[in-house]
Amino acid sequence: MLISLKEALAYGEKNNCGIAAINTPTLELLLATIKVAEKHGVPMILQHAEVHDPVVSIDDIGPAMLELAKRSSAPLVVHVDHGESIDFVRRGFEIGFNSAMFDGSRLPFEDNLAQTKEVVELANEYGHGVEGELGVMPGREDGVDSAEGVGDTSLYTDPDQAAEFVAETGVTALACSFGTVHGLYKAEPKINYDLISTLRERAGVPIVMHGGSGLSPAEYRECINRGVQKINYYTYADKAALEAVKQLLVDEPSTYVMAPVTVAARNAVQNNVDELVQCLYEGQVA
Ligand SMILES: [Zn+2]
Repeated sequence: MLISLKEALAYGEKNNCGIAAINTPTLELLLATIKVAEKHGVPMILQHAEVHDPVVSIDDIGPAMLELAKRSSAPLVVHVDHGESIDFVRRGFEIGFNSAMFDGSRLPFEDNLAQTKEVVELANEYGHGVEGELGVMPGREDGVDSAEGVGDTSLYTDPDQAAEFVAETGVTALACSFGTVHGLYKAEPKINYDLISTLRERAGVPIVMHGGSGLSPAEYRECINRGVQKINYYTYADKAALEAVKQLLVDEPSTYVMAPVTVAARNAVQNNVDELVQCLYEGQVA
């Protein structure tokens, strides 16, 4: 069933969980993610990032995400991830996505604020929630250039700006930079936990973690304790799929059709996301 971003975040706050938000640009990722949500009956977020549009267009995968979410027994949000223009967010809403992130983090503060405000006004017409972003998170969802900017604290979100940004725009949640990096970690992540606490308090809305791949369970839990209620996750799930496929081709070199490959990939994603869910929803899942 479809639930709103607000409802998912409220569940996270009430139960001290991080809501898993998984990018699903392939059917393997999409089906496996839904299967895990159904197995545990917990709210999760299916999301499509603009940067993944060359992999699969939102016009093609979007209706599949929505249809599968609606008929699922699990409570799911279908979310536009890293919309870089208001047009992309609008496209998502027209397809039926019921939540969106607008990423104006690389714009000057005033422009980010103005454009995010516009996106919130658009979302209000539909009654949908919006995630904004403030502070620069190195790397992108596609995992390219993730070493750049690691450990650069000047990129971290400023709490005063966060308070102003949320008050002015009316976003439902705020993606912040506090030490995580998109893609594969090429250096040890250094998370500033006190900054998360301050940001949560000053912003007054749940904090979103991007670059959620590759943290230890203890690191995830501490981020959640400090006020992170949505955790974006993609790279390691997709990496698990690829590794399973490579192994399959070694074990069974005579494989001559695609079908066993897609099943292996799906199963690997399922195991990977299940492990993540065990950590993020600790106390809520068996
Ligand atoms: Zn991101």
